[in-house]
Amino acid sequence: MVDGGCVFCAIARGEVAASRVFEDEWVIAFMDLQPVTPGHLLVVPRSHAEGLEDLPEDIGVRIWAVAHRLGRALRLSGLRCEGVNLFLADGEAAFQEVFHVHLHVFPRFKGDPFRIEANWQVHERHQLDESAKRVRKGIAALDIRPR
Ligand SMILES: [Zn+2]
Repeated sequence: MVDGGCVFCAIARGEVAASRVFEDEWVIAFMDLQPVTPGHLLVVPRSHAEGLEDLPEDIGVRIWAVAHRLGRALRLSGLRCEGVNLFLADGEAAFQEVFHVHLHVFPRFKGDPFRIEANWQVHERHQLDESAKRVRKGIAALDIRPR
């Protein structure tokens, strides 16, 4: 797939500097240039994929496995880490800014600056059931859709 000057592809190729912490045949992990908290990491596939739609599921599994390991490592790193967030933004509406899939892994601690504002109110069962029905429809559509 053509990367169109993608900075994460350039990092994966070693053409752009990054503070790397882990790499294997499929993924690379490095420090986010604009960390939410010290220790903020990104895990990205070596092969360009813009978002979840064009990311092979087995590579997604590998991204998660590495992020899982890094989340555990952060707690042993000596960096301030009272909790860990794994966060993936897919699409502009979800605040994706670099269009090469990346999973954020970052330490959290009491009083840190990270915020997600939302209305967390409980919905009625019929609303949840209606949403579930639509998601099941989406799953069925995935099964018949070529990748
Ligand atoms: Zn890329």
